[in-house]
Amino acid sequence: MTATAERRTGRSVLITGGNRGIGLAIAKSFLANGDKVAVTYRSETDLPEGVLGVKADVTDQSSIEEAFKTVEAAHGPVEVLVPNAGITKDTLLMRMSEDDFTSVLDANLTGAFRVIQRATKGMMKLRKGRIVMISSPSGVRGVPGQVNYSASKAGMIGIARSITRELGGRGITANVVMPGVVLTDIFNHVSEDIKTKYLGEIPAARFAEPSEIANVVRWLASDEAAYISGAVIPVDGGASMGH
Ligand code: NDP
Repeated sequence: MTATAERRTGRSVLITGGNRGIGLAIAKSFLANGDKVAVTYRSETDLPEGVLGVKADVTDQSSIEEAFKTVEAAHGPVEVLVPNAGITKDTLLMRMSEDDFTSVLDANLTGAFRVIQRATKGMMKLRKGRIVMISSPSGVRGVPGQVNYSASKAGMIGIARSITRELGGRGITANVVMPGVVLTDIFNHVSEDIKTKYLGEIPAARFAEPSEIANVVRWLASDEAAYISGAVIPVDGGASMGH
C-alpha cells in the first residue's frame, strides 16, 4: 500500500439494515464507488437498482447464515461489513423492563457480533477485511431514557478494539462510527421539543445528512484508511467532542 494507491472497487460489501435510513445511504455510497453491494432487510422494501437485498433478522442466527450464503454466491466473500441495524426502546431506568434492555442489546450488539463473527471467517481467508460498526454518541455521552441503547452502542467500541488486537495482523480493520442526529424513522417517536434540545447541543447548528455519515463509512473501508483500526469516529457536528 502506498500513498498513491488506486481506489479499489468491486468488493463484496454487506450492510445490515440497509433498506432505509443511514444504512441505505451507506449502500448507495458503496454502489457509487463501484462495489458489489448487498443489504439485509426485514420489511418489504424498494432497493436501488444494483443493490442485492437479502432478507435477514440480525437476532436470528439461521437467517444470517442464509443471507451470507446468498451474498457469497452472488458477490463472493464479504470483504466490507457494516453492522448498521439498530433499534431503540427508550424509557427511563425505573420503567425499563429486562426485556426492554435485553431486546435492544440483542438487536444492536449481539446482532453486530453475529454478523461480524460470520464475516470474519471469510475475511481471515482473504487476509483482508473492513468492519465499520454504526454506534452512537449515546454510547459515550449517555442519554436519559437510553440505558439499553447506550449500553449496546458502547459495547461496539469494545468489540472493535478486541477485533483489532485479535485480527489486526491479518489485514482486517474494525472501526466505529458515531453518527450525530439524522432525522430518519428512528426519530419518528421523538418529540419536537427533544429534537430542538438536541439541535441546541450541536455546534454545527444543524442535523446530519445521511450521506455525510455514509461518506465517512466508505472512506474508513478504503485502502486510504488501512492504518486506522479500533478508532471511534464521531460524525456529529461536534456534539460529542471531549467524550
Ligand atoms: P432506521 O430506523 O431508519 O433504520 C433501522 C434499520 O435497522 C432498518 O433497516 C431496520 O430494518 C434495521 N433493523 C432493525 N432491527 C433489525 C433486526 N433485528 N434485524 C435486521 N435489521 C434490523 O434507523 P437509522 O437509519 O437512523 O439507524 C441506523 C443505525 O444508525 C442504527 O444502528 C442507529 O442506532 C444508528 N444511529 C442513528 C442515528 C440517527 O440519528 N438516525 C444517530 C446515531 C446512531 P427494517 O426496515 O426491516 O425494520
